[in-house]
Amino acid sequence: MMKNTQTLSLNSRMKKRIAIIGAGAMGLSAAYYAIKKGYRVSIFEVDRIPGGMAAHFDLDGMSIERFYHFICKSDKHTFQLLDDLCIREKLIWKETKMGYFISGKHYSWGNPLALLFFPLMNIFEKIRYGFFVFFLTKKKDFNDIEHLTMKDWMISKLGKRVYSLMWERLSKLKFYEYTDKISASWIATRIKRIGNSRKSIMKEELGYIDGGSETLVNALVKFIEKHDGEIFLSTQVKEVLSIDDTHMKVITDKNEHTFEKVISTIPTPLISKMVPQLTDEEKQNYDSIENIGVVCVVHKIKKQITENFWLNIIDEDFEIPGIIEFSNLRKVDAGVVYVPYYMPITNSKFIKPDDFFINESRKYICKINKKIKKEDFLFSYVGRLKYSQPICEPNFYEKIPCVQTSIKGLQIADTCFYYPEDRGISESIGFAKKMVNNL
Ligand SMILES: Cc1cc2nc3c(=O)[nH]c(=O)nc-3n(C[C@H](O)[C@H](O)[C@H](O)COP(=O)(O)OP(=O)(O)OC[C@H]3O[C@@H](n4cnc5c(N)ncnc54)[C@H](O)[C@@H]3O)c2cc1C
Repeated sequence: MMKNTQTLSLNSRMKKRIAIIGAGAMGLSAAYYAIKKGYRVSIFEVDRIPGGMAAHFDLDGMSIERFYHFICKSDKHTFQLLDDLCIREKLIWKETKMGYFISGKHYSWGNPLALLFFPLMNIFEKIRYGFFVFFLTKKKDFNDIEHLTMKDWMISKLGKRVYSLMWERLSKLKFYEYTDKISASWIATRIKRIGNSRKSIMKEELGYIDGGSETLVNALVKFIEKHDGEIFLSTQVKEVLSIDDTHMKVITDKNEHTFEKVISTIPTPLISKMVPQLTDEEKQNYDSIENIGVVCVVHKIKKQITENFWLNIIDEDFEIPGIIEFSNLRKVDAGVVYVPYYMPITNSKFIKPDDFFINESRKYICKINKKIKKEDFLFSYVGRLKYSQPICEPNFYEKIPCVQTSIKGLQIADTCFYYPEDRGISESIGFAKKMVNNL
């Protein structure tokens, strides 16, 4: 046994060393694929736990994601990785529902019958909406609308009245001052992903991993550690410096390490400071990518609020675009609902205390379902992220920096690199694989 360990260590020492910055879905998957390619891996993560946006926390005795996660039928990179890790049986599909809450009333949504009986559109608008979604889910790509904003494109397809009714407030409460700058192909790709996640034309079907995203995170961590990979948690990378053509120094808040290759998966707005040797042009490119933040409240609650997984909200009395009733997807011990407050971090509301968001969102939930009372809330938690969603404007393709930087051996990406796809675990896994293939 001892001999085996020594042999492994010797083999390990002979391998090329790669540093991976960030232990989210992209960083952990990059480590997985780099190990498979024969690299010795070290991961640096500023958080005290791995997982990034997909990390879990303890919601009053229940381990659950800080930010809601569902899986769609098109998430092929996740399926492949679950297969590779021999945990595909943990993937569970569930029939889910979507609804709208408009000016105090509930409406079903998300299937042709719901559209047919939707009382707030005339028959012409309904036919137009139905064709819009149908063709969108069948379209191969959205290159032809790459130059358009979401607003202009939707108005051209749905009409001004329907855009204002169904989409305007939702977008405003997610993107605020960026609303009219969002790319049409980004939203089209997002609608297509969810629109195609169906059991049949009438039934939406979404997936989750038994035990939550943590199951995948733990399987990756186990694989990495088993293959001599090191994961440095609570360790912030301060600087990456090129020493010569073949080596880089990674300076953390604790130590310094030397590597042949480095992959960074941290949000691009943090890059210029972390890699001072990049060219001015590269730094400008990273700095020009904007993000919105999120304050995400999670409530553990005694009662079911609605039958929906996703409830879009369009109501003057609500300053949120919707709620995600997670317990209508994943079977958990109690009701779990996420209330995301997306907004630019410059918004004065972003720095309000946790209690403000907890109390406000509880009031909203009591308005959505009048049977829910204050005493039904068992526990609440607030997760915050400064960089939760990149702002992808029209022609964003042109703005995405080169993955391989001017520093030899240093690749940099974050969730905006796989535009027009929205940020997602599967896409982060797929992009990680791509970066490792470049090594
Ligand atoms: C509210 C919300 C809901 C979502 N819902 C879904 C969903 O339903 N389905 C889905 O597939 N995806 C969803 N996502 C997106 C998904 O979580 C992300 O696309 C994915 O987890 C991104 O992984 P990543 O590794 O690319 O980035 P991240 O998870 O952001 O990982 C980057 C890591 O870098 C670390 N880091 C930053 N700076 C440093 C530093 N200097 N040194 C060391 N480490 C550093 C961070 O702590 C972080 O762990 C959601 C995200 C949010 C915020």
